Amino acid sequence: MNQSRREFFKQALGVAGAAVAAPVILKSLWPAIAQAQGAPKFVVPGQGMAASVNYSENKKSVPKDLAIERNGVKFANQTCSGCVLFTKNAGDANGKCALFPNEQVKATSWCKSWSKKPS
Ligand code: SF4
Repeated sequence: MNQSRREFFKQALGVAGAAVAAPVILKSLWPAIAQAQGAPKFVVPGQGMAASVNYSENKKSVPKDLAIERNGVKFANQTCSGCVLFTKNAGDANGKCALFPNEQVKATSWCKSWSKKPS
């Protein structure tokens, strides 16, 4: 094998290696990339204000003493989307809560500050 052929195969192996590694690297960097591109940042349950108001994305984990009827609405029917503090843009699945001005809340989440949105 002459020198140029050896160089060709070395380069080809390098390209093949990069092609295999690129998806793995991109997948691991995706959260940071999405954040940098303006993807919504969601409230993290259990931290700061979220902890104070028992913000939960899984209502099954809400303590029984908090899983009560409010404003005549059964706990099962209380979600952020039906809360007076929830706003969203048309077409968006999730939205904003006045308690968390810098993050989004999931429409299906809940917290103990829930209050019925006027109909
Ligand atoms: S106040 Fe309302 S909109 Fe905000 S997190 Fe609690 S239930 Fe959701």
